[in-house]
Formats: sequence, C-alpha cells, structure tokens
Amino acid sequence: MTTPADAADPTDALSAVPAESGRRAATVPGRLRFFYGPMDCGKSTLALQIDHNHARQGRVGLLLVRFDRSGSPRISTRIGLARQAIELDETTDVRGLVRAQWAAGRRVDYLIVDEAQFLNEGQVEQLAELADLAHLDVYCFGIATDFRGRLFPGAQRLFEVADELQAVQVEVLCWCGSPGRFNGRVVNGSLVRAGDTVLVADTTAGDGSPSEEEGGPNNEATTTVRYQVLCRRHFRSGDLGPIPAAHGQLTLA
Ligand SMILES: [Zn+2]
Repeated sequence: MTTPADAADPTDALSAVPAESGRRAATVPGRLRFFYGPMDCGKSTLALQIDHNHARQGRVGLLLVRFDRSGSPRISTRIGLARQAIELDETTDVRGLVRAQWAAGRRVDYLIVDEAQFLNEGQVEQLAELADLAHLDVYCFGIATDFRGRLFPGAQRLFEVADELQAVQVEVLCWCGSPGRFNGRVVNGSLVRAGDTVLVADTTAGDGSPSEEEGGPNNEATTTVRYQVLCRRHFRSGDLGPIPAAHGQLTLA
C-alpha cells in the first residue's frame, strides 16, 4: 500500500494504541478529569489549550460540547469552540461517537467535553468507561452549581467518579471582590434562587415542544434573564452590587 510518508500509518487507526505516542502503553487506563468553576472563569479557553497541547504531541482528540439552549452562549461561542465540537444531546451515547471515529479510520486519544454540567449521569458513566476500557484521557469542563446553588446532575456525577477534580478560578470575582462561586440568575434585575431549572438544565432536545416560559427563544422581550457571578454572601443576600448590569453581562431577551 502507498501512504504519504508524513502521515500517520492509517493501519494504526483502529488500534487503541496511538501511533505517534505509541509508547503510551495500551494497558494504562485513561483518566477522567473535571475542571469546574463559575461561568467566564476561562474553562473553555483552558479546554482549547489542553487540546492544543495534546495535538502538538501528535495525539488526536474529539471535542464535544453538551448542547444547551440555556443561557451560556458566551462560553461556547466566544472562543469559537463550537465550530469544531460535536454537539451532544440528551440521547447521545458518547461511546458510539468514539466508535464511529474508529470505524471511519480515525484515532481517538482523548476527549474534551465542554459544558459538562449538562451531561446526564449515563453520559458521565460512558466517559468513565471510555477512560477505563478504551484508555482515553477525558477532560471535562463545566460549571458546578446552577442558579440555585445546587450541583448540576452532570457535575454531581463527575464529582463522584472523576479521577481528578480541579477548580478553575481565574479571577472571577463578585462585585465586592470576593471569589465568585455562584452563578446567580437575575430575572428583571432581581436575583432568583428558586424556580424552574429548564433555563439551565432540562432543555430536552428540540422536538418541537413549546418553548419554555421565561427566557424562551420565542418569548416576548419583556423578561430579561442574565447571569451574574456572586460570592456566597451576596448570592445568599441577593445583593447584586452597585452596577448590576456591568459590562458584557449575558442577556437573554
Ligand atoms: Zn460579594
């Protein structure tokens, strides 16, 4: 057979062992890592950086993002991750995605999953299986808690099963200067700590079902929803600070 001299041997494509970094023993399980932090803390940037570092070593990765219509488009679009990411929905079997790559003759050494808080438990299990049995390194990035201050289901399962947990805290501060740990949902200027989670979590795949009430894409522009990072004290008190509509705040109208 003839292959371009500079290309990786395509016959290695179906092997679990990476071609270029072949010394990496196939018997070493991959690791499942969860990098978590408030929104805008640089998780997606870190995700791309990790991807870049691996790619430079000749490793091949898949970039995945859990689709959400919720209200954090800045995370996924600001740095253009979406253009090269595969969107997962509620029913996606991540193992199937990897197998499809193998079947197409492509190697997969690692996975990068953005918006991992939106994964369901089963998908987190699938990632763990891929780490254990397919020796993939899995890097998950996401927000830990929702606007109520409760763990997202995907984040919770990752906290339970990941090999490594790493808080990403890149200078995301509350207006008071304290570290921001909570993603407050601000509806018409007031902090909302209870209520429907559809805006952030249970956005089932778009199957023509009516849009959610508040902030739904087809809603009248009378309700504005944005998110603001707050410290625990101000998350609890609901004090949004002197300039609640600070620069670049996310607004769903
Ligand atoms: Zn504060």
